[in-house]
Amino acid sequence: MEIKTVKFGGSSLCDAAHFRMVGDIIKSDPSRLFVVPSAPGKRSRDDVKITDMLYECYRLSREHAPDEAFDSVYEVICGRYRQIIEGLGLAYDISGELEYIKHAILHRAGRDYAASRGEYLSGIILAKFLGFDFVDAENVIFFGENGALDSERTVQELTAELKRHGEKGVVIPGFYGIMPNGTVKTFSRGGSDVTGSIVALASGSTLYENWTDVSGFMVADPRIVDNPRVIGRITYRELRELSYMGASVLHQDSIFPVRNAGIPINIKNTMRPEDPGTMIVADAPDYDSGRVITGIAGKKGFSVVTIGHDMMNSEIGFGRRVLEVFEEYGLSFEHLPSGIDTMSVVLSTPEFEKKRERVLASLGHMIHPDTLTVEDGLALIAVVGRGMVRAKGTAARVFGSVSDAGVNIKMIDQGSDELNIILGVEEADFEKAVKAIYYEFLPEG
Ligand code: ADP
Ligand code: ASP
Ligand code: MG
Repeated sequence: MEIKTVKFGGSSLCDAAHFRMVGDIIKSDPSRLFVVPSAPGKRSRDDVKITDMLYECYRLSREHAPDEAFDSVYEVICGRYRQIIEGLGLAYDISGELEYIKHAILHRAGRDYAASRGEYLSGIILAKFLGFDFVDAENVIFFGENGALDSERTVQELTAELKRHGEKGVVIPGFYGIMPNGTVKTFSRGGSDVTGSIVALASGSTLYENWTDVSGFMVADPRIVDNPRVIGRITYRELRELSYMGASVLHQDSIFPVRNAGIPINIKNTMRPEDPGTMIVADAPDYDSGRVITGIAGKKGFSVVTIGHDMMNSEIGFGRRVLEVFEEYGLSFEHLPSGIDTMSVVLSTPEFEKKRERVLASLGHMIHPDTLTVEDGLALIAVVGRGMVRAKGTAARVFGSVSDAGVNIKMIDQGSDELNIILGVEEADFEKAVKAIYYEFLPEG
């Protein structure tokens, strides 16, 4: 029997008209039984997401005594939910919930609690609109002491809870769960995708549909390349590489729960439900052999620390000592390109920034390097494709196209499994490089 978990992103639930589209999609297929909503997102380019307004309310509540600034932001949030309820023609008075949440935020319920209320209220409204049961994520999504998802307990309790609802549809708000001490905790931004994935696993779904505002995962970010091609099929591993490297369509951690169970993810467009979207699967031996690459993603904001030391290569334990310094400061690195006499450590600038002076001082007296330099403003680009193993000369085409566009490549790293090629360029060249690679492999657009 087919059972589907459907997650709807913020743009799919931004106002009453979108709630209606979502309702139509769910009602058009009786196997769409488990629904995970996000908080209402932007209605237009310069609108503000409910989640961002809730973070702002939290900040205002901590900065000074409750005042007009807090009230004015909170009122906008209330207005948006009231408009949705009215637009849906629901006889539901949300005032009690809104009062309670305001009071809780003002009385130190915590930043994650504040942020999570966007999804909570979306979930309550959607459940009423659909006539589905509401299951609060705080009763079924559990985090451990270390702040990471407690998958075992979550799957066990969530499975049992969902069974209790039988054939009836259920709405479970995305993005949050509960800590062992009873406080609400959220996943990182975009985390409703992760909730959807866990619900798909626990409900025994045969498909996880992730509904958003684009017709699938595209070969490149549509904000950089005009009208990029939609990827028909992509493997979990390729998708993980791309989402980790900044393709924000799907949260990078949403692969894990469904991957082991082999539940495919289908990315779909709420505004164009007839489009097939992208299927994310365990294995896709079929690929367009003319295409070679599956996708390109990237992000800005990296720093490179380069340690020069003569004869470094023959000094056993050198690399370990360098990495120990970064470990001591709790810094994880992205890449480690190295040469005979140099070793570079690529890190996220915002994380490195806070510890920069201490790390450099420590490297100085632990390693005694001949040279020690830091370069900021690096962007990383990942070119990913399961077809790259078989196609000779892919790396040459990637680097050639970027150089031809007049972009200087500052760093190169190729994964040993030949699934990806990573290159570092200056931030100012980022968009130009992504476009150059895209048109090299998809000259027809
Ligand atoms: P949702 O609110 O539905 O969770 P997101 O904003 O998280 O949606 O993700 C969808 C957005 O991801 C798209 O609108 C698009 O701007 C952006 N995006 C970035 N990279 C890609 C890509 N490779 N393919 C498709 N969309 C992408
Ligand atoms: N509403 C949350 C965010 O904006 C979670 C999500 O949309 O997935 O990050
Ligand atoms: Mg998202």
